[in-house]
Amino acid sequence: MQQPFAESWKIKMVEPIRNSTRHEREQWLKAAHYNVFQLNAEEVYIDLLTDSGTGAMSDRQWAGMMIGDESYAGATSFRKMKETIQRITGFQYVLPTHQGRAAENVLFSCLINENDIIPGNSHFDTTKGHIESRKAFAVDCTVDDAKDTQKEVPFKGNVDITKLDTLLAKEADRVPFIIVTITNNTAGGQPVSMDNLRQVRRLAQKYNKPVLFDSARFAENAYFIKVREEGFADKTIKEICYEMFSYADAMTMSAKKDAIVNMGGFIATNIQSWFDMAKVKGIVYEGYITYGGMNGRDMNALAIGLDENTEFDNLETRIRQVAYLAQRLDEFGIPYQRPAGGHAIFVDAPKVLVQVPKEEFPAQTLTIELYLEAGIRGCEIGYLLADRDPVTRQNRFGGLDLLRLAIPRRVYTNNHMDVVAVALKNVYDRRNSITRGVEIVWEAELMRHFTVQLRQLG
Ligand SMILES: *Cc1c(COP(=O)(O)O)cnc(C)c1O
Repeated sequence: MQQPFAESWKIKMVEPIRNSTRHEREQWLKAAHYNVFQLNAEEVYIDLLTDSGTGAMSDRQWAGMMIGDESYAGATSFRKMKETIQRITGFQYVLPTHQGRAAENVLFSCLINENDIIPGNSHFDTTKGHIESRKAFAVDCTVDDAKDTQKEVPFKGNVDITKLDTLLAKEADRVPFIIVTITNNTAGGQPVSMDNLRQVRRLAQKYNKPVLFDSARFAENAYFIKVREEGFADKTIKEICYEMFSYADAMTMSAKKDAIVNMGGFIATNIQSWFDMAKVKGIVYEGYITYGGMNGRDMNALAIGLDENTEFDNLETRIRQVAYLAQRLDEFGIPYQRPAGGHAIFVDAPKVLVQVPKEEFPAQTLTIELYLEAGIRGCEIGYLLADRDPVTRQNRFGGLDLLRLAIPRRVYTNNHMDVVAVALKNVYDRRNSITRGVEIVWEAELMRHFTVQLRQLG
């Protein structure tokens, strides 16, 4: 008999969680204006809102916390972090920031002007926010396959090279750089192949444009390259990471994802002029260049987390848990973005709630139903998150409308995944009785999904 698969770690510390009644959840959600971001954490039983900053640190990371160097300048913790980043990515210059969007803010302050166009595979919401708030345009050159949630292709996160080429041929003058997001969060945590990264590099060279990787989940991307792309099966994750970054000029990193820390981020680059500009902005927005919004102890934990999470065993445990949840949903016939991605399952809400019109936000409606069903907090990655078009101010209904179930790293067991799957099945079984969605009562101009207030219709 084949040995079953088990986690590559054991548990040393636990945190109690509490379930609630449906009546309690109805009260809490109403008070939260039907926006799960506004719920209090203790009102949630299983929290799949995000995998950002919610991972469990290892004993080695906690040990690193104890010996953090809190010197204002030149801390050993900074140098440990810098050396780890240099070793894994090959980038020479490293600038810490307090999280990923801060890295975007610092770097984009130096590089983006009004009316610029920033093309990419699919921009993450904060990336889009930092581009559009500078009156520039984020253009997604996503592969068409990514729009069909039921189509199984191994690298759905890829850049559409033809779309990128067409755009550059017409608008190269307005393009300061190209962004590739690895893995492609917006398309469903889908990986980008090494071949695609090479092609982007070649195209960028043709037009003399730098390439920036939005790298929050680069280690998960490397895992998929190893297991899905020909020629990489025998390479280590670290070797694959090194090659990936050889096709970029710089990276922004939300360390809250693949470095498994609760807070942190950085910019790394080989372009000295970018580093010199970013240093100045970094000091203004984040702090001195050897801490940039981070504690010494957190930089230690970041260095250790990056090192650990660019090892195969840790990534395999993680990605197989995501695949486990996907397999349970398959048993129930629940449609999600296929194949399962790196950090989350993205349920195709309009395929579930077929009666809820798009103007009433099906994915948000499904998010609400899942919370009411079992206290599970997912997150809408759909029409609310897509914001309005900056020019026409119309809702952007062109993309996917997904309920994301993001799985924190090393936090929940597969028993929790079973609870999630069955709760979703129960909603799925009564899907035809859900005919109305929600309407917006109040919204912010940018990144409205965090603070939007909604009303239930019907
Ligand atoms: C999370 C994330 C960011 C922003 O990082 P924060 O640490 O949340 O500020 C940027 N890009 C991608 C792809 C992300 O997943």
